Amino acid sequence: MTNNGKQRLYEEVDVLHQKMIDINDFIHDHPELGNQEYQASALLTRTLAENGFQVESGIIGLDTAFTATYKNGQGGPVIGLLCEYDALEGLGHGCGHNLQAASITGAAIALSRHLGDYPVTLQVFGTPAEETTSAKLPMAQEGLFDHLDVALMMHGGDRTTVDGKSLALNLVDFVFDGKAAHAAVAPDQGISALDAVLMTFNGIEYLREHVRTDVRIHGVITDGGKAANVVPDRAVAQFYIRAADRTYLNAVVERVYNVARGAALATGAQLTINELKVLDNKINVPSLNAIMLDNAEQAGAQNITPPRQNTGSTDFSTVTYRVPGACLRVSFVPFGTSSHTKEWVEAGTSESGHAALSVAAKAVAGACYDLLADPQLFVQLKEEFRQAKAESTQPGSAAKIS
Ligand SMILES: [Zn+2]
Ligand SMILES: [Zn+2]
Repeated sequence: MTNNGKQRLYEEVDVLHQKMIDINDFIHDHPELGNQEYQASALLTRTLAENGFQVESGIIGLDTAFTATYKNGQGGPVIGLLCEYDALEGLGHGCGHNLQAASITGAAIALSRHLGDYPVTLQVFGTPAEETTSAKLPMAQEGLFDHLDVALMMHGGDRTTVDGKSLALNLVDFVFDGKAAHAAVAPDQGISALDAVLMTFNGIEYLREHVRTDVRIHGVITDGGKAANVVPDRAVAQFYIRAADRTYLNAVVERVYNVARGAALATGAQLTINELKVLDNKINVPSLNAIMLDNAEQAGAQNITPPRQNTGSTDFSTVTYRVPGACLRVSFVPFGTSSHTKEWVEAGTSESGHAALSVAAKAVAGACYDLLADPQLFVQLKEEFRQAKAESTQPGSAAKIS
């Protein structure tokens, strides 16, 4: 493939721009919550099928999850392109998932038309419910991503960048069951579940001093009892526990659980620990990040900044914990504008949103183009991934940022 070829790929994206806008605006104007994205997944699978992709809908028992596969020749690498299309309750598309559904579909179709003799399989993954139940997690558990040579996605942003890391996460509920009693007449007969919650908070504050600085532990009381004159027989605290790598986080999580267990022992309350979500950290592959950012620049992206170092957690990390992957964030709102806001909703169908579709599709398709032009790159990415994962899973070593 030549630079001339990349220019033709861009022209193909330009041809598809109006189609991407139509998909984007439809999904934006018909916001659907996680696992209910019936209209969005129907539109995306129909579009991909019309363009020669082999569609499988409702995979692993999830109605709105799908794969769409395009095989060019025999063998060759398998490129995964992931997209989300769920909206936020009460807000609509405040996370810009309309952009990724449309631009990833556009990138996949444009690329499929410019593969020439290169043996390669393109596989688009429709991954529902990013904001709630995170379909990527069961999809990863089922091994759906394990055969990929690379996994790419995009996300809207207030700047154009990639993630240098993301934090592993355990989201848990600590449910304490005590014994109700009149708080003035018979407190001696009560067991306060709220006391156990408060002791858990206090214990975690002591623990905080003796963990690595990348650890984040933050919680709220979601049930603290109902009446101040009754000893609370039930109380619940929800905690996010995060760290730069899964191995270290597992050790921290066990210590946090021991704090809660200690609080249960001290108060006599019964403790139930409900793990609501478990996400791995991203295994960072700097060369792949560089290819994505370089292609964003070539595609005319605005507000490009170096890889993000201050990040939270994403379910895409559970994919990039298994295979080399990168998510390109593409600027479409003013710098500093937070996601999950009405500003993001409004920008979704604006001129800047529509321009971001084109930039993202060109950048993602362009990155694939560069990888296919130099198959040695796949070998390099795999080796970088292998080394970074070995470092990340070594006890006591924090995941590297770059
Ligand atoms: Zn979001
Ligand atoms: Zn999002």
